[in-house]
Amino acid sequence: MYNVAVDDVKCEGCEECVNICPQEVFQMSDGKSDPANLSECVFCESCVGVCPSEAISITEI
Ligand code: SF4
Ligand code: SF4
Repeated sequence: MYNVAVDDVKCEGCEECVNICPQEVFQMSDGKSDPANLSECVFCESCVGVCPSEAISITEI
Protein backbone atom coordinates (compact mmCIF):
# COMPACT_ATOMS: atom_id res chain seq x y z
CA MET A 1 0.00 0.00 0.00
CA TYR A 2 1.10 3.54 -0.72
CA ASN A 3 0.58 6.84 1.00
CA VAL A 4 -0.26 9.70 -1.34
CA ALA A 5 0.31 13.18 0.05
CA VAL A 6 -0.59 16.55 -1.45
CA ASP A 7 1.10 19.68 -0.16
CA ASP A 8 -1.80 22.13 0.15
CA VAL A 9 0.55 25.11 0.01
CA LYS A 10 2.07 24.02 -3.30
CA CYS A 11 -1.16 22.75 -4.91
CA GLU A 12 -2.53 25.19 -7.50
CA GLY A 13 -5.81 23.35 -8.00
CA CYS A 14 -5.20 22.62 -11.69
CA GLU A 15 -6.90 19.20 -11.44
CA GLU A 16 -4.28 17.54 -13.67
CA CYS A 17 -3.77 14.80 -11.08
CA VAL A 18 -7.50 14.17 -10.91
CA ASN A 19 -7.64 13.80 -14.68
CA ILE A 20 -4.60 11.56 -15.12
CA CYS A 21 -4.94 9.12 -12.22
CA PRO A 22 -6.22 5.76 -13.57
CA GLN A 23 -7.43 4.77 -10.11
CA GLU A 24 -9.47 7.90 -9.29
CA VAL A 25 -7.43 8.48 -6.14
CA PHE A 26 -7.90 12.25 -6.16
CA GLN A 27 -10.90 14.47 -5.68
CA MET A 28 -11.05 18.23 -5.39
CA SER A 29 -11.80 19.80 -2.02
CA ASP A 30 -11.96 23.57 -1.52
CA GLY A 31 -9.91 24.12 -4.67
CA LYS A 32 -7.15 21.72 -3.67
CA SER A 33 -6.47 18.12 -4.61
CA ASP A 34 -7.38 15.60 -1.92
CA PRO A 35 -6.06 12.01 -2.25
CA ALA A 36 -9.25 10.66 -0.71
CA ASN A 37 -8.96 7.16 -2.20
CA LEU A 38 -5.29 6.57 -1.56
CA SER A 39 -5.86 2.87 -0.88
CA GLU A 40 -6.49 2.50 -4.64
CA CYS A 41 -3.06 3.84 -5.64
CA VAL A 42 -0.96 1.51 -7.80
CA PHE A 43 2.20 3.67 -7.71
CA CYS A 44 2.23 4.47 -11.43
CA GLU A 45 3.58 7.95 -10.55
CA SER A 46 1.61 9.61 -13.35
CA CYS A 47 0.34 12.22 -10.91
CA VAL A 48 3.84 13.05 -9.68
CA GLY A 49 4.96 13.61 -13.26
CA VAL A 50 2.01 15.74 -14.32
CA CYS A 51 1.81 18.05 -11.29
CA PRO A 52 3.23 21.46 -12.29
CA SER A 53 4.05 22.45 -8.73
CA GLU A 54 5.61 19.23 -7.43
CA ALA A 55 2.95 19.06 -4.74
CA ILE A 56 2.48 15.28 -4.76
CA SER A 57 4.65 12.77 -2.96
CA ILE A 58 4.13 9.02 -2.67
CA THR A 59 5.71 6.65 -0.21
CA GLU A 60 5.33 2.94 0.33
CA ILE A 61 3.84 2.08 3.70
S1 SF4 B 1 0.67 7.07 -8.50
FE1 SF4 B 1 -0.81 6.62 -10.14
S2 SF4 B 1 -2.45 5.47 -9.12
FE2 SF4 B 1 -1.27 6.49 -7.52
S3 SF4 B 1 -2.32 8.41 -7.12
FE3 SF4 B 1 -0.74 8.83 -8.66
S4 SF4 B 1 -1.72 8.60 -10.66
FE4 SF4 B 1 -3.03 7.64 -9.11
S1 SF4 C 1 -1.67 18.34 -10.32
FE1 SF4 C 1 -0.63 19.24 -8.51
S2 SF4 C 1 -1.21 21.42 -8.55
FE2 SF4 C 1 -2.62 20.32 -9.89
S3 SF4 C 1 -4.42 19.84 -8.55
FE3 SF4 C 1 -3.00 18.07 -8.53
S4 SF4 C 1 -1.69 18.40 -6.72
FE4 SF4 C 1 -2.67 20.35 -7.21
